[in-house]
Amino acid sequence: MLESAQALIRKTAEKMRLDAETIKRLIEPEMIHEFAFPVIMDNGKKKVFKGWRIQHNSALGPYKGGIRFHPETVREEVQALATLMSIKCAVAGLPYGGAKGGIAVDPKKLSRTELERLSKAYVEKIAHFIGENIDIPAPDVNTNPQIMAVMLDKYQKIKGYKSPATFTGKPVSMGGSLGRTEATGRGGLFVLKALLSKLKSKILNHKSQINPKSQIKNSKQFGTSNLEFSALSVAIQGFGNVGYYFAKLSQEDGFKIVAVSDSKGGVVKKLKVDELQPLDIPLTMKCKREKGSLAGCYCVGGVCDLGGGQTITNEELLELPVDILVPAALENVINEKNMKNIKAKIIVEMANGPITEEAYEYLSKKGIIIVPDVLANSGGVIVSYLEWVQGKARYWWSEKEVNSKLEEMIARAFETIWNKSVAKKISLKQAAFEVAIERITSAMV
Ligand code: NAD
Repeated sequence: MLESAQALIRKTAEKMRLDAETIKRLIEPEMIHEFAFPVIMDNGKKKVFKGWRIQHNSALGPYKGGIRFHPETVREEVQALATLMSIKCAVAGLPYGGAKGGIAVDPKKLSRTELERLSKAYVEKIAHFIGENIDIPAPDVNTNPQIMAVMLDKYQKIKGYKSPATFTGKPVSMGGSLGRTEATGRGGLFVLKALLSKLKSKILNHKSQINPKSQIKNSKQFGTSNLEFSALSVAIQGFGNVGYYFAKLSQEDGFKIVAVSDSKGGVVKKLKVDELQPLDIPLTMKCKREKGSLAGCYCVGGVCDLGGGQTITNEELLELPVDILVPAALENVINEKNMKNIKAKIIVEMANGPITEEAYEYLSKKGIIIVPDVLANSGGVIVSYLEWVQGKARYWWSEKEVNSKLEEMIARAFETIWNKSVAKKISLKQAAFEVAIERITSAMV
């Protein structure tokens, strides 16, 4: 992922005829903080963890980016994600640079108290180089508002003053923003609807997997609820914060969510081969919460708790004959091994870097429309920005106000990228990188 992010920056910058030193500044992170730190486990013994905070580029403003807890996290991954954050913030028109943090840990193997001590120990390491005008962390994979609350509390104790704008994605009770939890999924849905609105004429002639007679009905304006999407089938990999809210909100807008998955596998409802049925997303989540995984909800050991469903692997989910595929879990899941089997017509990259460079080239040449991660999942950082603005002003908006600002900002970002892509006959990803690099370099001194 690091190589492909850097290659795309280099390729775009060279096309823009930027000089070698500017390209170097776009590629090399400004700061790499790498550390090992001990945490006392419940058995009284110390265990050493590896952590990172990588600050990529600050031309447009303070660094911004999430903190990931994952056993396979390594420096290259954190650096790639930090690089993508610089691009993403610029695409969204935010006054931020890019950063990312991570710890190589499997949080599922830690108790609640161990996780809390780990989070506090990480903050002790990063406290002296973050801050509301320096670097503002947020949640990412396996971190959530509760972990942000623990981290912010520790940070404020170290500093000796309140600074709610130093962390975003925190609980509302600690100065978080209404609408932040759903923001990434909601933003992705706004972008998908904007895209469909542009593609309307093509899709009107499209034969859907679910109901060939259904069509998208006209829309007055993108983003309002006047679109009818019941013809379009969607498969979503990842049923965490991003995947779940994307699934829930798009189902509420009429899309047919036919398959979802988590790390243990996926579920689908099929009457016959290729006849995919919609899942009930809130019910599926309720079951997952009770049983711990989606696989536990469907037909395990012959018991089909949610009726009519069957389990599939994550690999099978990606290859389903759906209209829209939404990878919303981890990176590189669509790659040279499975790219030829992908049947979706639109891919919305809700995860960061879910498609390898080679697969991207192949799928784009096949005419599959890919909404790039730096645009598709920017709803999270946009509402993080709104949370930061509210925290600094100590003045909070209603959820409706937050959602409407998110819609306006992400629609503006989409329109800019779309127009560049059409005008220059380049992919949406290439257009996004061009827009971002123009904005970043124009702020570099
Ligand atoms: P999360 O931890 O809430 O959920 C991750 C989901 O992916 C879980 O359902 C998990 O079971 C599943 N998963 C884990 N390993 C998997 C595997 N090998 N195969 C299939 N599924 C697997 O994380 P999240 O916040 O939803 O983030 C998901 C993706 O979206 C990540 O790439 C993240 O960087 C990106 N993202 C998140 C946000 C945000 O606001 N949370 C914003 C932008 C981008």
